[in-house]
Amino acid sequence: LAEKLQGALRKLRGKGKVTEADVTEALREVRMALLGADVSLKVVKQFVSSVKERAIGQDVLESLTPGQQVVKVVYDELVQLMGGSNAKLTVASKPPTVIMLVGLQGAGKTTTVAKLAAFLHKQGRRPLLTACDVYRPAAVKQLQVLGTQLDLPVFSMGTDISPVDIARAAVEHANRHGNDMVLLDTAGRLHINEELMTELEDIKKTVQPHEILLVVDAMTGQDAVNVAEAFHAQLGLDGVVLTKLDGDARGGAALSVKAVTGCPIKFVGMGEKTDALEPFHPERMASRILGMGDVLTLIEKAQATIDANMAREMEQKLRKADFNFEDFLMQMQQMRKLGPMDQLLGMLPGMGNMKALKDVQVDEKEMKHVEAIILSMTVEERRNPQLLKDSRKKRIARGSGTSVQQVNNLIKTFEQTRKMMKQFTEMRGAMMGKAKKG
Ligand code: GDP
Ligand code: MG
Repeated sequence: LAEKLQGALRKLRGKGKVTEADVTEALREVRMALLGADVSLKVVKQFVSSVKERAIGQDVLESLTPGQQVVKVVYDELVQLMGGSNAKLTVASKPPTVIMLVGLQGAGKTTTVAKLAAFLHKQGRRPLLTACDVYRPAAVKQLQVLGTQLDLPVFSMGTDISPVDIARAAVEHANRHGNDMVLLDTAGRLHINEELMTELEDIKKTVQPHEILLVVDAMTGQDAVNVAEAFHAQLGLDGVVLTKLDGDARGGAALSVKAVTGCPIKFVGMGEKTDALEPFHPERMASRILGMGDVLTLIEKAQATIDANMAREMEQKLRKADFNFEDFLMQMQQMRKLGPMDQLLGMLPGMGNMKALKDVQVDEKEMKHVEAIILSMTVEERRNPQLLKDSRKKRIARGSGTSVQQVNNLIKTFEQTRKMMKQFTEMRGAMMGKAKKG
């Protein structure tokens, strides 16, 4: 999925203007990529239409190229589609918090109980693993082995007692022994059936869990989403754990679970080991799907700190080549907010190796000196750098507590920057020209 989406969006990068036709064309491919990844048609339709609406509308950042803007919109919408932000577990105000894990056979319930226990234990909790799968003796044993491995307590009563009674007894046990989390490992079936649902409903009624988490296998794609829909309708889910995401290249289930069921994915399983569980972060998943973390980081940074209008003004000045020390100062201050300039420009596709960048590395201390020097210039001098002759340099050095050599260095850097910025704008202009022709 990542590859196809990247392909679709790559075409937009580096373009000067994105027309409605461009967006439509790109989204046609995005739509195909999503459908190919087993995302449901309904979800895909909604997704594409909201991206289109936003991409062609005007809520776009002035500091980005149109291509970047579309990428950003797709990214934002992916994040929204998956629930916006990380959904946390509910914690009971009065312990223990009871978490019930449900799902079909082989989905990864027992493994996830162990993973979740390890995760919670790391956060200072005292989880009690509870074996409510009484249909297979091996299931009880499996949980016990995992508990021993993790050095965490497992509550079991063999296979002759009903799961409802075991669950109730486990909560009492937790109360007496100071376990603040009870994790119920329930039985699954090969398919959803009445017997399974009745059993789960009974447990639910009896212990009233604070969280019912559905465990689904990501590799089953669209089926995982259907299972989630059915469980949610019958049982009412608080969240989903998507397992085996390590083996699922398409990621379709991750994209549609929230959109179809309204239930957020709270955790993802990334392997068989007990530490292979991660809280689900829609932003990270969206980045992973788009596979271009660097560009997104740049976009986020730019959005957070650069005043778009100021950037545009600056560009116009650069074009007219009347970039002066006042602008230089302002720009340095912006840069400081963004991080080192070489790093920043390095994030732009194709800019990583620009040689000139090596010459303008600025560190924090130097930046302070630079600020002091510029502040010691008169306004006149800042606006007309060519005025800076020897006597003036001496005065500025004295005023800023620096040396004439440092003042000279700054002027040199300033000239280099001015030259580089000019190259940069020209290069961008050339790229846009090409894109229009091509
Ligand atoms: P249950 O029947 O729902 O309790 O499923 P199990 O917990 O017994 O897991 C079934 C199989 O899936 C086991 O072989 C697990 O090791 C495997 N499994 C569970 N979660 C993951 C995961 O996140 N990644 C991978 N690769 N395997 C998993
Ligand atoms: Mg099991």
